Amino acid sequence: MKFFTIPLLLLTISIFAQKDAKYSTHFEKGNGNQTATYQETIAYYSLLAKDFASIKMIEMGATDSGDPLHLVIFNPEKSFDLDKIQKNKAVLLINNGIHAGEPDGIDATMQLFRDLALGKIKIPKNTVVSTIPVYNIGGALNRNSNSRANQDGPEIYGFRGNGRNYDLNRDFIKSDTRNMKSFTEIFHKLNPDVFIDNHVSNGADYQYKLTYIMTQQNQLGSVLGTYLDGEMMPSIVLDLQKKNIPTTPYVNAFSETPDNGFAQFFDSPRYSTGYTSLFNTIGFVVETHMLKKYADRVKVTYEYMTSTIDFMDANYQKIKQKRSKNEEQFEPRKSYTIKWQLDTTKVSKFSFLGFEAGRKKSEATSGDRLFYDRAKPFEKEIPYLKEYKSVKEITIPTAYIIPKAFWNVIDLLKSNKIAYTQLKKDSLIEVESYKIADFKTSSSAYEGHYIHRDTKISSKKEKLAFAKGDYVVATEQKGIKYLLETLEPEGIDSFFNWNFFDTMLQQKEGYSDYVFEDTAAQILKDNPKLKAELDQKKKQDPKFANNPQVQLEWVYKHSVYYEKAHLQYPIYRVL
Ligand SMILES: [Zn+2]
Repeated sequence: MKFFTIPLLLLTISIFAQKDAKYSTHFEKGNGNQTATYQETIAYYSLLAKDFASIKMIEMGATDSGDPLHLVIFNPEKSFDLDKIQKNKAVLLINNGIHAGEPDGIDATMQLFRDLALGKIKIPKNTVVSTIPVYNIGGALNRNSNSRANQDGPEIYGFRGNGRNYDLNRDFIKSDTRNMKSFTEIFHKLNPDVFIDNHVSNGADYQYKLTYIMTQQNQLGSVLGTYLDGEMMPSIVLDLQKKNIPTTPYVNAFSETPDNGFAQFFDSPRYSTGYTSLFNTIGFVVETHMLKKYADRVKVTYEYMTSTIDFMDANYQKIKQKRSKNEEQFEPRKSYTIKWQLDTTKVSKFSFLGFEAGRKKSEATSGDRLFYDRAKPFEKEIPYLKEYKSVKEITIPTAYIIPKAFWNVIDLLKSNKIAYTQLKKDSLIEVESYKIADFKTSSSAYEGHYIHRDTKISSKKEKLAFAKGDYVVATEQKGIKYLLETLEPEGIDSFFNWNFFDTMLQQKEGYSDYVFEDTAAQILKDNPKLKAELDQKKKQDPKFANNPQVQLEWVYKHSVYYEKAHLQYPIYRVL
């Protein structure tokens, strides 16, 4: 036997060596500072899918650039029925290159899928791993060496904006791009239990190669949030620590140095993990540090993914249970937090690995400049604020009624797998209606919009006529948080704030003063109560009393001539 063993072993090693060479990635073949192009990435996954029955690549819809979005799935059981997969196993979705200038995840995930297929690492039994190899294809095609001014490699990389210059990591609610429409389809088909979005950070200097954002636990919901913050995140952090990869929560301190502490990043629904949290999916953003060597960044991104897979595989049933329990806590007639604020009274501490910072005279400008002294590393306890408190709650309605004219809203609900019915006949229905009472608008363009904020509403109960075919959307469904965050105007990323209803903010009809004067006089004659109100206002408000035009407008706005649609929020609540 001994006689045969040694040559067989050598033969095996040599076959593996050949296989290894065949499946080396572009990054591995290069000098460690080079990332695969979009075409090389897709060609690589095509090779894996051709050679390994455990890997499948599927085209999943369009992107703004004109190229299709791909989804790659690894399942050692070689089954790729997306509906069935979710029932028996935990599903991880890894998104890469949403900011194409931050390609660490693109290269790390190619290695991960190859290592899974070859069995070079432990193959998960209870977890299916899937990835979007390159999400921002338009950005990845727009390669350059300069747009990441503060980043140490790779040599050439893609651009942050997509084919139409959208930042795709702000597009998850407004869904302006084809990329997002295709992502929505992938996301709901997979219904991933865990989601990872791979990035590279900007900002301060410190010792860590890897920082992470976990989706904000209070916003996620108490069941899943407590589990994520108390069990899952600490386990992944500990596992990385064992691999000699110290980590820190995303260093959310842009204007100052981090040694005075910082707060957890609040990932509202416009961001990838804020969106996935609406469907009770646990989301992480990996943010490697831009000043670390590219090869080190790819390595820690790889390790973050394997640590997450290991945790998921050991805890897949618990994760699934917590997800469904989390979903159950949002119910009609219960209250729901529509606005969160950092709770500065709850401070936790952790040991931070930083560099001492100082100021010196700038050689470029006339001012002083900040610098970090890498010769002076430190480890010290710093305050960390990670709790957000509810500052505004609403009562969850049993349903929303959406007039069929708002097809743009209906289309988005449909693509997010929201269930609905339609009125079978014209109907009078008792609803709560909102008027937009106040809002502020950004003075500069933001992601193709002039976004609103600080929106306030006034509400009243009334019986209104709805038409046959109008949509009734019950809130008791899986997408309840998506409905609340998009349809309640006060939500930070509501459709209202993203300009979906700006046509309601503009009055379409008006009057000529000289014509309406006679009508106004008649209105006041016929309505002594209104006249008394007008007189009272004149007494209390001297500015109003001295402005006849404003008085006439007041009468108009209190008359039947004033159009109902102005400032009327067109989606109604059934309580
Ligand atoms: Zn990024």
